[in-house]
Amino acid sequence: MYDRIKNQDAELYRSILDEKKRQTEGLELIPSENYTSPAVMEAMGSILTNKYSEGYAGRRYYNGNEHIDHIELLAIERAKKLFRVKHVNVQPYSGSPANLAVYLATCAPGDTIMGLALPEGGHLTHGWKVSATAMFYKSVPYHVRADGRIDFEELRKLAREHKPKLIWAGATAYPYAYDYKKFAEIADEVGAYLAADIAHVAGLIVAGAHPSPVPHAHIVTTTTHKTLRGPRGGMIMVTDRGLKKDPDLAQKVDKAVFPGLQGGPHDHQTAAIAIALKEAATPKFSAYGKQIVKNAKALAASLKKNGITLVADGTENHLILLDLAPIFGPGGGVFGSDAMEVAGMTANKNTIPKEPMSPFYPSGVRLGTPALTTRGMKEREMQKVGEWIARSIRAVGSYRMPSDVKERAAYIARFKKGAARNEELLAIRKEIRSFCKKYPLPGDTKR
Ligand SMILES: *Cc1c(COP(=O)(O)O)cnc(C)c1O
Repeated sequence: MYDRIKNQDAELYRSILDEKKRQTEGLELIPSENYTSPAVMEAMGSILTNKYSEGYAGRRYYNGNEHIDHIELLAIERAKKLFRVKHVNVQPYSGSPANLAVYLATCAPGDTIMGLALPEGGHLTHGWKVSATAMFYKSVPYHVRADGRIDFEELRKLAREHKPKLIWAGATAYPYAYDYKKFAEIADEVGAYLAADIAHVAGLIVAGAHPSPVPHAHIVTTTTHKTLRGPRGGMIMVTDRGLKKDPDLAQKVDKAVFPGLQGGPHDHQTAAIAIALKEAATPKFSAYGKQIVKNAKALAASLKKNGITLVADGTENHLILLDLAPIFGPGGGVFGSDAMEVAGMTANKNTIPKEPMSPFYPSGVRLGTPALTTRGMKEREMQKVGEWIARSIRAVGSYRMPSDVKERAAYIARFKKGAARNEELLAIRKEIRSFCKKYPLPGDTKR
């Protein structure tokens, strides 16, 4: 594989191979990652990348787009059918540009918007302060309650007070199913657009393993590369409800994507999205989506059995948040996620609800099951993965984040050195490497 790269650019080839080895020999637990299919990757590497096609099907600024039109319409039709929506734009380069287009379509600069605060699970593009979405719009974040569920009482109160134009429902670190109906009631009460960002749960929704926002939201955005298991990309959908609220909403969305924010669409990406949508419409994918959730529940149970505290005491979707404060005290997420990395498991440090330390030194770890489920693992394997995670965390359980901020960098550097030589972690790594041989990546054969 990759022979042409090998012949032409040995240095780069080396890195691709190393990354492939990493993806093959380790357990991928980052809940926003997945292994896409060989057909999707073939489309991503196809000649479609050569074409410019600014505009939309039948209305392009360049000639020679008859086949591109067909590809884009195919992707749109498949998405419309799969998600049961009236209008779809498949051109956003990724999830963040898709969200930015929603602002452009529904708000004027300076208008008020609301999203879940980032440290509580929200996404940057839902108005978090370092994002352009908080610089160009007036952002009023809402929060979760102590149990980690969205605080709808606060949301309603803030919405009545600030009268937002746009409310976001969706998150990157939320282990519960979303109650879209409640969001819609509040949005309707104040006349706001409700945009559901299903980046994380799109595949679960398609599989019938998570409620759909389509009956409740006006706009739905998603990435295509997380649980949906397509190429990196984004989509914006307009629902029946959206068109009822604003008959021009579909055109506003299209105009926001192009020419509002982007130039030419990535046609190879569009083709790969079309393929992923075809895959997602199969019974096999439904079974996959349901298995993700079963696996997450099994992994949560194993973690708890092995002494790990979980936010929400479990999960209702594909994602699990470990609360490591009982083990390391505040700020120990990095000890957990780095120990896991040495042991061959990739996850990320993450804030927990009512974070006792800070977003840079958070107290939790976020993980999920979409990628492992793609490799064919089931509940029995999750039992084992839970044990490995708990063992890795306990192997470094004596570390404590210094309360003096100035001491932290040096302390973490010492911790990393120790972890890299930790015998227990290295033993787990070996076990995992041999375990992974039984679960090849899509397109690879068992070795
Ligand atoms: C991942 C994610 C995005 C952004 O996607 P990118 O493709 O990384 O730009 C947006 N919203 C939510 C909720 C996400 O989880």
